[in-house]
Amino acid sequence: MSQETQRVAIVTGAARGIGAGIAIRLAADGMAVAVLDLNEADCAGTVKEIENAGGKALAVGADVSKTDEANAAVERVAVELGEPTVLVNNAGITRDAMLFKMTDEQWDTVVAVNLRGPFVMTRAAQKYMSGQKWGRIVNISSSSALGNRGQANYAATKAGVEGFTKTLAKELGKFGITANAVGPHFIATDMTANMATSLKMSFEDLVATYSKQIPVGRVGQPADVAAAVSFLVGEDAGFVSGQVLYVAGGPLN
Ligand code: NAP
Repeated sequence: MSQETQRVAIVTGAARGIGAGIAIRLAADGMAVAVLDLNEADCAGTVKEIENAGGKALAVGADVSKTDEANAAVERVAVELGEPTVLVNNAGITRDAMLFKMTDEQWDTVVAVNLRGPFVMTRAAQKYMSGQKWGRIVNISSSSALGNRGQANYAATKAGVEGFTKTLAKELGKFGITANAVGPHFIATDMTANMATSLKMSFEDLVATYSKQIPVGRVGQPADVAAAVSFLVGEDAGFVSGQVLYVAGGPLN
C-alpha cells in the first residue's frame, strides 16, 4: 500500500504485553501505528522496535477510561499520523477477588478501563472510519468472558465487550466497518506473571500447569493474538464481522 493510502491504526495498552505485540505486527503489515498507553514515555520501547524495523509509529499517552483523554488522543492521532480507520481496544486490567470479598472500587475500576474504555475510544474513532467508508475494530476479550472464579468484575466486562462488539457490527456495517472480538486464553505477559505472584507460584510453574491443560501443549504468546488481529483488520476480512475468535490453543468449555 502506498504512503498516501497507508492505513492508520490505534492500539491501546500497547506499551507492553499483547498490545505491544499487536502494534508491532500491524506496523509490519504496513500500517502506521499509534502506540497508546497510560504513560506516553512507556510507549517508547514499542515505538522504537517498530521504527527499527522500518515502520511508522507515534507514542500517545492517554487513560482510555477518561472521555476527554480518549477524545484528545484520537484527535492527536488524526492530526499527527493520519485519520485512524483501525482501532484495537486492547488496554485491560484485572482486580481479582472472590465475589464476597470484591470491593466496589475493584468492580468500578475494571469496568471503567475494560468496558468504558472501548466505548469512548470507539465512539471517538468511528467518525473517521465512517467518513472513509472503511474501518476495522477489534476488541480484546478473554476466555474469562465464559466465567472464571475470582473474576466476577473482569468476566462481566469481557462478556460485555463481546455484546458491544456485536452491536458495533450491526450499527456500523453499512459504513464498511467491521467489528470483531478476539478472546485470548493464557498469554505470557506481565498480567499472567502477576497472576503467578498472587497465587504464590513461580511463573514457570504456572506456565507448566496451563501448558498441560491447553490442547496444543503450550501457553500463548502476544504474537499468537497479534496474528489473529492482523487477519481481522486486514483488507481481506471485510465479510467477517460480529464474531468472537478465541485464541486459546483449543476449544473452551
Ligand atoms: P498487561 O501486560 O497488563 O498490559 C496492559 C497494558 O494496558 C499496560 O501497558 C497498561 O499500562 C495498559 N493500560 C492499563 N490501563 C490503561 C488505561 N486506562 N488506559 C490506557 N492503557 C492502559 O496486559 P496483557 O496481558 O498484555 O493484556 C492485554 C489485553 O488482553 C487485556 O485487555 C487483557 O484483559 C487481555 N487478555 C490477556 C490475557 C493474558 O493471558 N495475558 C488473556 C485474555 C485476555 P500500565 O502498565 O501503565 O498499567
